[in-house]
Amino acid sequence: MKAAVLTDICQMQVMDVPEPKIEKDTDVLLKVEVVGICGSDLHYYETGRIGRQIIEYPFIIGHECAATVKAIGSSVTRVKVGGQVVVDPAVPCHECDQCKMGRENTCHNVRFLGVPGQGGGCLREYIIMPQECCYPTNKEISLEQAALCEPLSIGVYSAKQANMPENADVAILGQGPIGLSVLLATKVEKVRKIFVTDKIDRRLKAARGVGVTWAGNPDHIDIVSEIMAIEPLGLDVVFECCGQQEALDQAFDILKPGGHLVIVGTPRQDRIWFDVDKFKRKEFSIRYIRRQNHCVQRAIDLIRSRQISVDFMVTHHFPLEQTKKAFDLVAGYRDGVIKAMINVTTLW
Ligand SMILES: [Zn+2]
Ligand SMILES: [Zn+2]
Repeated sequence: MKAAVLTDICQMQVMDVPEPKIEKDTDVLLKVEVVGICGSDLHYYETGRIGRQIIEYPFIIGHECAATVKAIGSSVTRVKVGGQVVVDPAVPCHECDQCKMGRENTCHNVRFLGVPGQGGGCLREYIIMPQECCYPTNKEISLEQAALCEPLSIGVYSAKQANMPENADVAILGQGPIGLSVLLATKVEKVRKIFVTDKIDRRLKAARGVGVTWAGNPDHIDIVSEIMAIEPLGLDVVFECCGQQEALDQAFDILKPGGHLVIVGTPRQDRIWFDVDKFKRKEFSIRYIRRQNHCVQRAIDLIRSRQISVDFMVTHHFPLEQTKKAFDLVAGYRDGVIKAMINVTTLW
């Protein structure tokens, strides 16, 4: 089968690799249809690592995918051959203390698609996943919508973890696919005002299309003073969705005392900094989001019931053989890209 294989930093080749085989009776052989390119895939592409997870080449990345069931193990009941599924890329162990507490997203032994040392990714024609990771869609949502369920589930989980008070005033700093997913998820909750920022005007435009109180570009205006002019007491919750120190600093300035900072972005550097004086005086709480937990079905339901629309996020489409081109486009933030999709099933 074909796969888009990382061979070095910023190097990717489409080549033949062995097809995976069903080994356990709970395994599902999936034909990968559509793969979304995620910020974390880009980290691996450009730097070869995320924190202590370092790639040994060659390696296949990718974890946001929609697939069709090709074959199933003998005890699989959750999906049927020919059915379409959303893939949850995380396979928890169900044995460790975290899993037993229902915190599978911080499982000590998790295997995640496309993470070095845990398992190859989905930028290839076939993958094997346990049935618990396959969420049938009954073809009620499109394949691209299905591939967007993974980032959307992170937005849903982030909004849930924010413990927003009723009629909260919130800001979402960064309007890439994850920031937009957080926006969509917070819109479903009953929030009062939503402020969003991004350095790319196309993304602000997308956010305005979803519906926000205020959107601003920190390269052009002083977002702290503009937001504080509208909401002088400060905001209840700020979601940091871009992994920038600058945004963390802004969050400290626009949060009200007792406010809640939810960090979703992944910074390039190993350490982030907080202003001790502001931190202490305002008694913030901070939560860092680890992917998502038990929110995939909710993401599917939100799309299926048309409570939210995600189609606007997909700005670019590429066949598998042009995966490198897609990564270079997304890495350069070129052409107003929000989410680029790889269509794995184009005819060979
Ligand atoms: Zn992702
Ligand atoms: Zn576990």
